[in-house]
Amino acid sequence: MSTFQAPKGTYDLIPPESAKYLAVREAIAAPLRNSGYGYIETPGFENVELFARGVGESTDIVTKEMYAFETKGGDQLALRPEGTASVLRAALEANLHKLGNLPVKLWYSGSYYRYERPQKGRYRHFSQVGAEAIGAEDPALDAELIILADQAYRSLGLRNFRILLNSLGDKECRPVYREALQNFLRGLDLDEETLRRADINPLRVLDDKRPDVQKQLTDAPLLRDYLCDACKAYHEEVRELITAAGVSFEDDPKLVRGLDYYTRTTFEFVHDGLGSQSAVGGGGRYDGLSEMIGGPALPSVGWALGVDRTVLALEAEGVELELPASTSVFAVPLGDEARRVLFTKVTELRKLGIAADFSYGSKGLKGAMKSANRSGARYTIVAGERDLAEGVVQLKDMESGDQRAVGVNEIVAELESKLG
Ligand code: ATP
Ligand code: MG
Repeated sequence: MSTFQAPKGTYDLIPPESAKYLAVREAIAAPLRNSGYGYIETPGFENVELFARGVGESTDIVTKEMYAFETKGGDQLALRPEGTASVLRAALEANLHKLGNLPVKLWYSGSYYRYERPQKGRYRHFSQVGAEAIGAEDPALDAELIILADQAYRSLGLRNFRILLNSLGDKECRPVYREALQNFLRGLDLDEETLRRADINPLRVLDDKRPDVQKQLTDAPLLRDYLCDACKAYHEEVRELITAAGVSFEDDPKLVRGLDYYTRTTFEFVHDGLGSQSAVGGGGRYDGLSEMIGGPALPSVGWALGVDRTVLALEAEGVELELPASTSVFAVPLGDEARRVLFTKVTELRKLGIAADFSYGSKGLKGAMKSANRSGARYTIVAGERDLAEGVVQLKDMESGDQRAVGVNEIVAELESKLG
């Protein structure tokens, strides 16, 4: 192992590619900010109990993927594998649900950790932007979240993604379905672990990715046929609202999700250019989660979109994001006096909001011009002793190659009018 190797299953975001990640986070957050969601940030770790209860004891996340550890003080903690349980915990702790203003709408962005088998699009450290609307049961809220995610992806220029939609029923109708599914699963040729899963959480067997399992599930009973009238009406309303917004989706009667807490609306965003790691995001309604972690009944809905896979999806579609140039003006001083003068000019430009950089170290003209080129700056200002004696600097347009003298006292205003 090389000394500088990042841990297995992780990678660093490095310029210039890192700018894409920032832009993706920004693009996902923008529609949320515009729709009443407030920013929330929670710790990178929580008491392990929160995830065991909130994500589900029988989920892969809790049984296999969680980084759980004991602190020197004896606390049992885990690096957060997902965001929803933490956000709900924080909202309950701060009593946000008691301020009489439900739903509490929150968005977040950060790092998540899962001990998984690393492969393209599946990492041990990854990043998500998520949104949660806590404390209201209203199909318009489910629809809002799906529409906002669609808007975020479209604003990035993504086109080849699909929205899969299903309803998982509620505590009235799901148990009936659960039993029907269990009876069906018991008749299949499944390995022991899967049979055990069928006992604890049969719906999750539908999510099994193995082809031999999937083949046996062809005739599995579908929740769709077991929904109670209230769930049916709710789901129909969500579908109508999304359709009216011009957002297309596919009904996927077998869609369940990896976390135990979902009820009713459940959805996933998949991208067809990503191979087996095709889910770029997912979410749904989790009416029972608050009670599962010891809170009051707070019906809620949310999603999390994976930043890493969204970047891969953009690359798969060949979408080039329009990233603002990181540097607009690059200053190349020749000699000590010029250093002082141009450094002052760079500071002034920055104060005006113009992205400017400076040739540091003692490079010669040739090396400094190379840096100027590499910076992507539209303009370079060069000044030597002779220029300063004449009260000018040289302004070079890096696109046309034109160069002309501009007064030292005029250069900032000149650049501001060119770039402003
Ligand atoms: P998968 O079925 O691919 O394991 P998941 O159902 O575990 O996904 P969620 O818990 O719903 O994923 O997380 C939401 C999004 O976060 C996913 O759609 C994906 O984009 C991203 N994500 C989840 N796990 C990883 C990972 N290990 N590496 C990179 N991105 C991930
Ligand atoms: Mg997973």
